[in-house]
Amino acid sequence: TATSGSRLTEGLNPEQREAVEFRGQALLIVAGAGSGKTRVLTHRIASLIESREAWPSQILAITFTNKAAAEMRERVEALLGEGASGMWISTFHSACVRILRREAEAIGLSSTFTIYDSADQRTILKRIIKELDADTLGFTPANAQVKISKLKNELADVESYARNVNTNDPAEVMFLEIFRQYTRRLRDASALDFDDLISETVYLFRAFPKVASLYQRRFRHILVDEYQDTNHAQYALIRELTQPIPADRVVEMGEHGVNVRALTDASGGIPGASLTVVGDSDQSIYAFRGADIRNIVEFERDFPGAKVVLLEQNYRSTQNILSAANAVISNNFDRKEKKLWTADGDGDKITGYTGYTAHDEAQFVADEIEALHRSGVAYRDIAVFYRTNAQTRALEEIFVRSALPYRVVGGTKFYERAEIKDAMAYLIAVANPLDELALRRILNTPKRGIGPATETAIASFAEQNALTFRQAMRAADGLGLGPKVTAAITGLADLLDEAAAMLVPNAEAIAAGTNEGAAKVSDVLVFLVERSGLIDALRNSRDPQDETRAENVEELVAQTRDFDRENPGATLVDFLTQVSLVAAADELDDASGTVSLMTLHTAKGLEYHAVFLTGLEEGLLPHQMSASEPGGPAEERRLFYVGITRARKRLYLSLAMSRAQFGEVAVAMPSRYLQEIPEGLIDWKQSPGMATSRGGTQPRALNARRPGGAWGTRDRDLERYSVTKSAAPRAEWANRVTGTVRDNGDLTLEAGDRIRHVDFGEGRVTQVTGEGTKRIAHVSFDTAGQKKLLIKIAPIEKL
Ligand code: ATP
Ligand code: MG
Repeated sequence: TATSGSRLTEGLNPEQREAVEFRGQALLIVAGAGSGKTRVLTHRIASLIESREAWPSQILAITFTNKAAAEMRERVEALLGEGASGMWISTFHSACVRILRREAEAIGLSSTFTIYDSADQRTILKRIIKELDADTLGFTPANAQVKISKLKNELADVESYARNVNTNDPAEVMFLEIFRQYTRRLRDASALDFDDLISETVYLFRAFPKVASLYQRRFRHILVDEYQDTNHAQYALIRELTQPIPADRVVEMGEHGVNVRALTDASGGIPGASLTVVGDSDQSIYAFRGADIRNIVEFERDFPGAKVVLLEQNYRSTQNILSAANAVISNNFDRKEKKLWTADGDGDKITGYTGYTAHDEAQFVADEIEALHRSGVAYRDIAVFYRTNAQTRALEEIFVRSALPYRVVGGTKFYERAEIKDAMAYLIAVANPLDELALRRILNTPKRGIGPATETAIASFAEQNALTFRQAMRAADGLGLGPKVTAAITGLADLLDEAAAMLVPNAEAIAAGTNEGAAKVSDVLVFLVERSGLIDALRNSRDPQDETRAENVEELVAQTRDFDRENPGATLVDFLTQVSLVAAADELDDASGTVSLMTLHTAKGLEYHAVFLTGLEEGLLPHQMSASEPGGPAEERRLFYVGITRARKRLYLSLAMSRAQFGEVAVAMPSRYLQEIPEGLIDWKQSPGMATSRGGTQPRALNARRPGGAWGTRDRDLERYSVTKSAAPRAEWANRVTGTVRDNGDLTLEAGDRIRHVDFGEGRVTQVTGEGTKRIAHVSFDTAGQKKLLIKIAPIEKL
C-alpha cells in the first residue's frame, strides 16, 4: 500500500527507490562501495513481504558471510517489525548444505555427510600423493588442492577432466589419478569438500529436474549480494534456480500434492523466479577462488531485458576517504570509470604511521584505539585489517598487554587446533560411520597402543574385502593382531556405537520426525571425551601445553552446551554443519564491545567508524604470491580499495620497517599503493621515508615520486635480515628521540663499544658483521643476554 511503501522507501534516493520498487524478472545494481547496494537489497526484501507479493519462505537471499546474513535478517525484521521465519538468508554454502542434507539420498550420499575443511583435504591428498609417489612430478597437497578446487568451481568432474587430458603428459595423467582417487575417497567417506557443496547442488538440480522444480517453485525471489565474487559454479546454481517450470511438470507436481496453482501463468507453467544481483567490479577480490567478473559484466546478455540501476552517491565515508579510494582504484586498467562522492564533507585527514617493527606498529594502533575510545568511539565500531592471518600475532600481543578488548573474526583457528579436531573427529565418527578420515584420526588418540602398521593393516583389510574402515575395525580379531591391540580397536568401535545409540530419538519421535529423546550434543561429547580418555590424557600430561589443550576441549564442550540451549531439538549433524560453515567463513555472533580484527577478505561489505589498515608493505600488500598471478597486483589493489572503503569517519594506514616472517626479521618497503594516495590526504605521524632530521615532520612520502627516492627504487640492500625478534621499541620512545622513524644509517660501531637499547638496556658490542645498510651488531647485553641487531634501524644509541 502507499503508506507502507513510502515507509520502506523513505530516506532512499531516487535510484535506490527505483531499485526497491522495480517488479520485473531481472535487476542488476552496479555501484561503488558504500552506495547502499546492500541496503537496497534489504529494503527490497521487506517491501516484497510487506506488500504481500511474497511470503518470507519465497525469498532466497545470498550474502557473502554468515555475519552479513545475520545482519540482513535482523534489518529486514526491524523494517517489518516482525519476525520473518522461513526466509532463507544465507551464504551460498549454507543454502547448499541445507538443500543437500534434504536431498542427499538422490545423489547417493548419506544425509549425515561430513564437510571436509581445507586441512582435511590436505590430509587426504597427502596420503594419495604419497601412495602414488606423485611428489616426484612436483605435486604437493597444497598445489593439488588448488587445482582440484579450480576444476570444481568450473563444474568439471573426473570424467570431464579425463576427456581433455593430454595422455602424453605424465604430470597431467598423474593429476587425473590424484583427482580420481580424491573424489573416490570423499565419496566412500560420504564427505564433501567446500567446493562440492555448490557443484553437487548444481549436479543434483541438473540430474533431477523434479527436485530442481521443488526449489524453483519455492524460491520466487532470489537476491544475491556481492555478485562480483560469484564463481562459475555459483552462477550455474543461480541459473538453475531461476529456470521456469514447464506446464507438464507443473501438472505432475500438482498430482503429488505440491501447491502450484497460485503460481502458474497463462501457459500453465510457472515463470522463473525474479533475480536481483548487486555488485561492484572494483571489489572483486576472489579471482583466486575462481570468482568471475564476467558474471556481472555479462548479466545483461544472460538475462535479456534486465533492468540496470546505477548508484553513485556514497553514504558511508567522508570525502577524504573516498578521494583516497578513488585515487587508488583509478590505477587499475580495464574498468568503468566511476567516482564515489558524498554530500557529507571532507572529514578528518587520513592518519599515516610507520613503525620500526610490527610491534611498534601494533602499539601505535593500540594507542590510537585508546584515544578514539576516550573520545567516545565504541570499541565495536573500530576494526583492524590485515592481509594475512600471521599478522595478528604482534597485534594480539600488544592488545593483550594493553588490556584492549578485541576479537579475531574468522581466523580464530579454534577449530583447527589439533585437540579440537580430535574431539570433533569423535563426533564426526559417530555421526558419519563412513568417515575414514575421522576414524583414523582417533584410532590412536589418545594413545591406546595402535601403531601405524596396525592402521595400515586395517585399511588394506577394508580395501581387500570391500569393507568400510569401521567394518574392518569390527573384524579386528581376524587380523592376527595381538590381543591387547585387538581389544583396543574393538573397544573404540564399541564406544562409538554406544554414543550413536544415545542419539536415537524415541519411537514416537521417530514417527513424528522430531528429535525428542535423543541425547544432547553436549552430553554425547562429554561421554566421548571422558570415556575415550581424551580429556584425562590431556589433564594428566606433563606437557604444560596440554593444560591449555584440555581447556580448549572444555571450551568446545561449553560451546555445545550453548548450541543445545539455543537450538532445542537440533541434531548432532546440525551442530557439525554449523561448525564447518562458521569456522570456514566467519563467526556468527557479533560480540559487542570489542575491537574486531580480520583479514581484508573478511572485511568485505562491513563498515566501521574507524578502520586501521596495517602492514601496508610490499610483499604483504600486494602479497608476494600475487606477483606471479596474472592480474594479481590489480586484485590486490581492489583488496586495498575494499579496506579503505570500510571506514566511515577515520582511516589509519600503517606499516612497519621490519617484520618478522618465517622466524626471520625482514626489512620491509612501503606498499606501492600508498604512493597512489594524494599526499595532501594523509597526515603522517611517522613517515615511511627513513628521515634522519631530528624532529623532522616533513612527510617523506614527498620523496615517493622522485626517481630513486626512498620508495621509487627497489633497494638491493633491503634483503631479508636475520636480526633479533624481540626488539620492540615503543612508539613514545621513537617520537621522543627523533619525532620520526629512526635511521642509524651512519652510526659507526665496533667491537668494544658500549650501547644502550630501548628495551634491552646497556650492553657491549662484541662484533660487527655485514656491510653498509646490512651491518649487524652482535651485542652482549648486561642483563638481556646476546642479541644481533640490524644497526640501521635498531633503537640503540652509542654511549
Ligand atoms: P559495499 O559495496 O561496501 O558492500 P553497499 O553499496 O552495500 O557497500 P551499504 O552497506 O548498503 O552499501 O550502505 C552503506 C552505508 O550507507 C550504510 O550505513 C547504509 O545504511 C547507508 N545508506 C545507504 N543508503 C542511504 C541513504 N539513502 N540514506 C542514508 N544512508 C544510506
Ligand atoms: Mg554491501
